[in-house]
Amino acid sequence: MDTAGKTEILFNEQLRDWELAGINYGMLRSVKTRVLSFGGYRVLVQFNPGRIRSSAAKVDAKSIEDRPCFLCEKNRPAEQRGVVTDFGLTILVNPFPIFNRHLTIVSGDHIPQVISGHFTEMLSLARTLKNYVIFYNGPKCGASAPDHFHFQAGNLGFLPVEEDFELKASVKLLTVWAGTQIWMWRDYGRAIATLRGRDPESLHTVFGSFYARMKMLRNDKPEPMMNILAYESGNDYVVHLIPRRLHRPSQFFADGDGQVLLSPASVDLGGVLITPREEDFMKLTTELAGDIFSQVCLSEDQLEKLFDEFV
Ligand SMILES: [Zn+2]
Repeated sequence: MDTAGKTEILFNEQLRDWELAGINYGMLRSVKTRVLSFGGYRVLVQFNPGRIRSSAAKVDAKSIEDRPCFLCEKNRPAEQRGVVTDFGLTILVNPFPIFNRHLTIVSGDHIPQVISGHFTEMLSLARTLKNYVIFYNGPKCGASAPDHFHFQAGNLGFLPVEEDFELKASVKLLTVWAGTQIWMWRDYGRAIATLRGRDPESLHTVFGSFYARMKMLRNDKPEPMMNILAYESGNDYVVHLIPRRLHRPSQFFADGDGQVLLSPASVDLGGVLITPREEDFMKLTTELAGDIFSQVCLSEDQLEKLFDEFV
């Protein structure tokens, strides 16, 4: 049986046999959602109390050092099973879901969360798990285990960015380089560049150039801050690159009424804002969401300049 088939079985078995997973996926069926309508697109807001540990996670070096790593095999819950891929990553069911199907895909070794050296693995996962969007949260861009390399994956058809890309109302084709299309998003509230093509090497070259230019522009440690979403569409890979300039918006740190506990990561920037507290779920407006996006993302002009060597 192939990896996708084994993952399907894993998912059903874990929901049946692992009480925590069974309860949390059950609760997802009654999750509350709001729609924020912007001019040409919409953003969803999901009230999801189970995500508090991720949204509010302390990811400073001291806090990370002081806790056992929950992605290392020796520390994982006894009930949690995995499927090992051909390239050595282990697919796990995420017990605190946002998606109806939500996976965490972890390295067998306790190695840091950096995308360098792992981009092509991400494409391989997109090819292996065809019904999923694979996503990467950088160590200061939403990953709650910045010390243990991992991707996540969720069922396709949930994040608005997928449909918005197909509709093409908010994107323009910048150029095509060695078979890889480079698309830039316009008036979408958050700067995104999308690569589409079928040759992993060509995609990797374009990504490598983007990464190097980001590194010069930002000098973030340990790597240029970014979120990445990748999936298959037809025979092509689609890769959304979302560079970041800030980990968490000012509202995250505010006191009292001004506080919004929202820590943006791939899912939020893909168009589903996750709020673990009901007060924040009710509070979010298009203005507030737009402000949060603009604080944590680059501007659309800044991002386009990073690709000028291909134009
Ligand atoms: Zn670990």
